[in-house]
Amino acid sequence: LHEEALAARSKDNLRSPICCILGHVDTGKTKLLDKIRQTNVQEGEAGGITQQIGATYFPVEALKQKTNVVNKDGKFEFKVPGLLIIDTPGHESFSNLRSRGSSLCNIAILVVDIMHGLEPQTLESMRLLRDRKTPFIVALNKIDRLYGWKKIDNNGFEDSLAMQNKGVQNEFRTRLEATKLAFAEQGFNSELFFENKSMARNVSLVPTSAHTGEGVPDMLKLLTSLSQERMTNSLMYLSEVECTVLEVKVIEGLGTTIDVVLSNGILREGDRVVLCGTNGPITTNIRALLTPAPLKELRLKSQYVHNKEVKAALGVKIAANDLEHAIAGSRLMVVGPDDDEEDLEDEVMSDLEALLSKVATDNRGVTVQASTLGSLEALLEFLRVSKIPVANISIGPVYKRDVMMAGTMLEKAKEYAVMLCFDVKVDKDAAAYAQDVGVKIFTADIIYHLFDNFTAHMAELAEQRKEESKMHAVFPCVIRPVAVFNKTDPIVIGIDVIEGSLRLHTPLAAVRTNASGVKEIVKLGRVTSLERDHKAIPICKKGQPSVAIKIEGANQPMYGRHLEESDTLYSAISRQSIDTLKEFYRADVTMEEWGLVKKLKPLFDIP
Ligand code: GDP
Repeated sequence: LHEEALAARSKDNLRSPICCILGHVDTGKTKLLDKIRQTNVQEGEAGGITQQIGATYFPVEALKQKTNVVNKDGKFEFKVPGLLIIDTPGHESFSNLRSRGSSLCNIAILVVDIMHGLEPQTLESMRLLRDRKTPFIVALNKIDRLYGWKKIDNNGFEDSLAMQNKGVQNEFRTRLEATKLAFAEQGFNSELFFENKSMARNVSLVPTSAHTGEGVPDMLKLLTSLSQERMTNSLMYLSEVECTVLEVKVIEGLGTTIDVVLSNGILREGDRVVLCGTNGPITTNIRALLTPAPLKELRLKSQYVHNKEVKAALGVKIAANDLEHAIAGSRLMVVGPDDDEEDLEDEVMSDLEALLSKVATDNRGVTVQASTLGSLEALLEFLRVSKIPVANISIGPVYKRDVMMAGTMLEKAKEYAVMLCFDVKVDKDAAAYAQDVGVKIFTADIIYHLFDNFTAHMAELAEQRKEESKMHAVFPCVIRPVAVFNKTDPIVIGIDVIEGSLRLHTPLAAVRTNASGVKEIVKLGRVTSLERDHKAIPICKKGQPSVAIKIEGANQPMYGRHLEESDTLYSAISRQSIDTLKEFYRADVTMEEWGLVKKLKPLFDIP
């Protein structure tokens, strides 16, 4: 068996590393991809670059040619057979290239705009890369925008930098240092690539321009070197099938197809495969393995080439029956002769179940909906770190039944009657229904935007509750009437505040002892106005000049009959009013006022 294993490790069985490009919007991810695909005319056709489904394959010959300018002596050794770069930049592909929580993306390029530094999605990308332990390099893109930059198309960076005047070099250094500092703040050590002594310890920063192509040869060389350094041998050889669904697409004439990345092993036409679906496992046979037709053959009637078998690593489209409910981000497993189909079905569904098991066990939390398994996983991880509880999860567009699910929270915990939807469409009826019943739907294609939305929502609710609680909040005060202007309906009196402060809406009461010696609380109603020198004021504090106040309420007592001018008045506190102060006004209540609350408690028989 050992010999067999060794034999399997022949050169033909090497597999290529897979690379993703991540970064903030507009940093130049798409342009960089275009630039590396582009053939360098002077150096002749860069051999054999092939456009695949959702990915571009660079055979080692192409890599050698594209890095020639920074490897003139040929000292750098290529050990990989090639490099598969995923075409759709951004989080989606990266988070879907997953298997049991680890990443199938072997290396990544994080693109940063040298003029902008680290931006919100850069940080999000870094979190993803860190969570999945994916080695990456940073392309510090748009160096051609440094003021006064003189370009040499497709040049190596060191050489180009040496040609610049002092001013440009200084600006470059300043921006480089700022970027390094920003990375350090995120817990990453980073170094300019040719000053980096340990790729294991420091992230390499490689300055690039997607417009002039400068630094792109360095970037490719660095990618190759990082993958050769960091990928273990076993990863480099073909072994059992490892395959992930990146997209589910309806194609005319083919029905629903899945675009997959085969990161290891071999797929064959007719293979029986199992994958995860929204309505349970999907088991089907591969009808066709399709890759794009080369450009020169596009005049042929099909835009696809049929393949009898395909080898990792590559992007391929699979046509088969029953793919309508397939989930992007799902694993695809091949049923071998000794395999039990049901075991494999359980296995692929366990990915979704693992996520289900992460949601709040007490059933109080928001509802989360995402387009793919990968993005759902990334979103749940983010919400976990952000301490936002999740009660329901779902994949795919938002329909009324999903809103109804979220609506169950309206009674349990109203603040969680919220749907955080990542990169999914919301059905019209569902949106209307949500509006009717009061379920909030937030949609975004950037995770942290959902977090911002939710945080703002919580703050708004708190503000609302504070507003509603105004009538229940009673600040403590003791006041002494100095004149009675109107005995009742409404009571109008002149007063001095002896302790605390009297505010609008405060309920007042006198505490008297009746003829039979029993304590009696006489409620006067609420203060509806405070005036000093005919000017309305919102508050009168202890020691301030006297004010005239109006008190209104149902069944008001009458001065001269139920109470006297000499009766001290107190703000009528209660258990509820104290709790409200504690919940919403803690910051507004002074130590002295808490002391006064304590003193007033026995008067109102509050334990
Ligand atoms: P993506 O959103 O990250 O894919 O960014 P794009 O590749 O679409 O680029 C966004 C914008 O930046 C486009 O207008 C590009 O032309 C421009 N851009 C990208 N790379 C460079 C670069 O290296 N130099 C300059 N000057 N502009 C660039």
